[in-house]
Amino acid sequence: MSIDVYKKSKNILENFLQEKILKYSQYRNFDYGPNYPHKAVSGLSPYISKGIIKEEYILKKISNSKNSSDKFIQEVLWRTYWKGWLEMHKEVWLDYKNSTELELDNIQHSELAEKYEQAINGKTKLEPYDEWINQLKNTGYLHNHTRMWFASIWIHYFGLPWQLGAQLFYDHLLDADIASNTLSWRWVAGLQTFGKKYIASSQNIMKFSLSRFKSFSLPKLISIDSPFKKFTLNEINYKNDFILDPNKKNAFLVVENNLDINFIKHNKENISLILLLETNNFKNNLSLISKRFQTSCNTDFINLCKQHNINIKKIDISKSFNECLTILKEEKIFNTYSEYITIGFEKDIVKKLITSLKNHNISYSFFLSNFYKEVWRFCNKGYFNFKKNFDKFYHI
Ligand SMILES: Cc1cc2nc3c(=O)[nH]c(=O)nc-3n(C[C@H](O)[C@H](O)[C@H](O)COP(=O)(O)OP(=O)(O)OC[C@H]3O[C@@H](n4cnc5c(N)ncnc54)[C@H](O)[C@@H]3O)c2cc1C
Repeated sequence: MSIDVYKKSKNILENFLQEKILKYSQYRNFDYGPNYPHKAVSGLSPYISKGIIKEEYILKKISNSKNSSDKFIQEVLWRTYWKGWLEMHKEVWLDYKNSTELELDNIQHSELAEKYEQAINGKTKLEPYDEWINQLKNTGYLHNHTRMWFASIWIHYFGLPWQLGAQLFYDHLLDADIASNTLSWRWVAGLQTFGKKYIASSQNIMKFSLSRFKSFSLPKLISIDSPFKKFTLNEINYKNDFILDPNKKNAFLVVENNLDINFIKHNKENISLILLLETNNFKNNLSLISKRFQTSCNTDFINLCKQHNINIKKIDISKSFNECLTILKEEKIFNTYSEYITIGFEKDIVKKLITSLKNHNISYSFFLSNFYKEVWRFCNKGYFNFKKNFDKFYHI
């Protein structure tokens, strides 16, 4: 039997701390090509994105390790920051979702239709770009620097809408994460920080891909300024009415991008049932390897729950909530809980489920870990302000 994703992620971290972390800062920006995707980086992102290993755990491991790297800590915290930032700017998610649908409709009939087809099929004849899109589709991974170049070429040299690039990444990356992905694409487009867009250059690509691409020249730079919208800052709802009442039967809801087992292990005496909520229908666009990875994570999560003698069922809630309601009624469960569900497709559908539960007199509460509760509130004034405040709380 293959090693489960929980053990695998811990092994990757152990190995990274022993073998690579000390050279991380020096070499992290180099992309060594599809045969050595994680030569100088950790490769942890698919596991973090599925909630299998958490930022807090990684940071604690670093603080107990003899090897450390400020740069690596900084990068791990970028993920935490993007998540908190999006939680504070819910409109950005709605804007992204609505504009993606519009752009997708428009592009078929626009003069960019052919360029778009070439770009998504790796037929642009721009050697590095065509290699990257094949790597993305075949492996579900691209190096961070390459993601920046890719997005920059897509937006600033091909003139394609950033939303469609972000969607392409979301559908193919094993580490697909709404906050990191959407906000990074916005950052490259110049929408995240006013007046700042990321323009890739041939020299930079040559240097950091170790001159792997023999001869190429980037197309003419297209200067399109997407309108910079200001979004309302919303406070995060920290009201945390979470009590796992030991005198009641409780069901714990789990979404596919947060397969965290720790909370469950510590509270298993008070959890009668876990419902793993699959959302297969609206994930139709995901690549086959992304779907396979999700399935293997789900399977390992279920097996781990079973090993801990926790009653678990998986249900698909993307078409109807009937199965969920029937199970809860059969089990005579009127209280449901979950860990806080972050902004994204999963949250959109679970919100509707919660309304339906409430209509059937089934309560719902959520639990937000102290780590996010403490640090997300500093996600409103830029990363460096966030990091400064983070350092006051945590001494790593
Ligand atoms: C256009 C674009 C889209 C992206 N989309 C995603 C995405 O969908 N999902 C995703 O997890 N990351 C995304 N990233 C961030 C980053 O590229 C990946 O997290 C990183 O490449 C993952 O590889 P690694 O685990 O080996 O990283 P390492 O270099 O080993 O870093 C360790 C961890 O730090 C975090 N991290 C590192 N760099 C960043 C970054 N720039 N932003 C946020 N977190 C970071 C990740 O959790 C990563 O696993 C995107 C970046 C760009 C420029």
